[in-house]
Amino acid sequence: MVSVRVERDLCIGSGKCVLLVPETFQLDGEEIAIVVDASAATEEALERAASRCPAGAIFLNDEASHTRDRGGIDVQRSGS
Ligand code: SF4
Repeated sequence: MVSVRVERDLCIGSGKCVLLVPETFQLDGEEIAIVVDASAATEEALERAASRCPAGAIFLNDEASHTRDRGGIDVQRSGS
């Protein structure tokens, strides 16, 4: 199970994630992306959106292992 989040401070509102995965991402009233339904998209689709976000604002986390946080520009690994 993969969770996804958007770092609001990084998002520049390009809307690319909304175009790629509209079932998961929407822009709010401030033109910042929000996650409306993470389970509506495949992991591959979420990874594609994260990799194509121009601001590196989309982060995926594998809830099964709690060891990976991938995507975005600030990739952190707390395990091996
Ligand atoms: S692709 Fe990235 S910068 Fe663009 S709206 Fe989505 S989260 Fe924000």
